[in-house]
Amino acid sequence: MRCAPNLREETGPGMTIPVKRAAVIGGGIGGLCAAIGLRRLGVDATVCERADRFERLGAGLTLWANAVRALRVLGVADDVLARGAVVRRSAIRTASGRDLAVTDVAEHRQRYGEPTIALHRGDLQEALLAALPADAVRLGMSCDGVVPEGDGVSVHFAGGAGERADMVVGADGIRSVVRPYVLPAVALRYAGYTAWRGVVASPDLVTAGLTSESWGRGSRFGIVPINSREIYWFATANTPAGGSQSPTERKEFLRQRFAGWHDPVMRLIEATPAEQILHNDIYDFPPQSCWSQGRVVLLGDAAHATTPNMGQGACMAIESSVVLCRALAEESTLPGALRRYQSERMPRTAWITTQSWKLGYAAQAERPLLCALRDLLMRLAPAGALNRTLDKTAGYRV
Ligand SMILES: Cc1cc2nc3c(=O)[nH]c(=O)nc-3n(C[C@H](O)[C@H](O)[C@H](O)COP(=O)(O)OP(=O)(O)OC[C@H]3O[C@@H](n4cnc5c(N)ncnc54)[C@H](O)[C@@H]3O)c2cc1C
Repeated sequence: MRCAPNLREETGPGMTIPVKRAAVIGGGIGGLCAAIGLRRLGVDATVCERADRFERLGAGLTLWANAVRALRVLGVADDVLARGAVVRRSAIRTASGRDLAVTDVAEHRQRYGEPTIALHRGDLQEALLAALPADAVRLGMSCDGVVPEGDGVSVHFAGGAGERADMVVGADGIRSVVRPYVLPAVALRYAGYTAWRGVVASPDLVTAGLTSESWGRGSRFGIVPINSREIYWFATANTPAGGSQSPTERKEFLRQRFAGWHDPVMRLIEATPAEQILHNDIYDFPPQSCWSQGRVVLLGDAAHATTPNMGQGACMAIESSVVLCRALAEESTLPGALRRYQSERMPRTAWITTQSWKLGYAAQAERPLLCALRDLLMRLAPAGALNRTLDKTAGYRV
């Protein structure tokens, strides 16, 4: 199996990168990875992040082998691996806890060259920040627009500050402020369900390495150990968009919605302080056919937001940052690099966005007959079909 080289090894000495200075808008997973890759190419990249500080907010992530592979190219995989937990087995279950389908994830290291891991989102962010010099990230910089100016781009920030760069990477998430400059008419689409997430410091509630997602009627509950100390959980429910709950109402809603589900669902809800439970409606937008305009390019959720059903949103943001940097290293002009970036990334991200949307539709089924049929199909699904999907997602080599 070919080992993924890091970006420095891919760029030959004396190679000219068509960009000297880049402004990366957004210090999320995609923005930090893009900045790491750009700096490895010798580009003076600065991350401009709206938040005043990075906080370890309460949520976990699964990084599939494809993402770990991309992190390896960026030179940060070992540090990230050290902060997470390797997933060994992943089960889809019924609300009563009966297995419908089980995947041997432990074999990913051998099959795909890297393990699949789970970790705290804040720990991933910390590892990525550690790979950047302190002056590469500027906090409290809320972008409110980009304007082309001669052979560069001006970035405007709230409060009147400005920044000039040869290239702007819009990595500012699903509600991107940069995106309208490239794609003026993208409407977010509500998936029909909302999600709650929490992290609990009770590792004894779950066996290490075992993750599960249990499917009920119009609701799911996922359990993911993220290190030797903490378990991440997520819950979903079909609801209209825009509902708001106080922390106490959130917890009470979850208690009622998941009453009678298998152990340790209720124990995880009870063990999470109400004010630490996150709540987000789930949105994506349909795959787009253009991610750049002049010297401005979109990356991560700003370009290809997806529903979380395949656990691939952050993974794709990491992959996209590698492909963008590689295109800049190997193409002699910026337009050529951006064309290549888009043509390499669009088919894959469109496929995942579409598959994830369909998976969410099935997993959130509510009518009893439909749920019974879904569960039966999951139980009877041939392992070969599941493996082919996994080969295409986790087995992807950036
Ligand atoms: C419930 C749920 C579970 C998920 N689980 C997984 C999973 O298991 N695995 C996985 O791979 N993905 C998962 N995802 C998806 C993943 O979280 C996203 O795809 C990923 O965070 C996208 O990274 P990003 O850097 O593009 O955007 P973000 O992480 O949203 O980062 C954007 C950054 O830009 C900043 N910003 C925004 N606006 C501005 C502005 N105007 N100026 C400056 N900065 C700005 C924000 O503060 C933020 O720091 C999940 C998502 C949800 C909702």
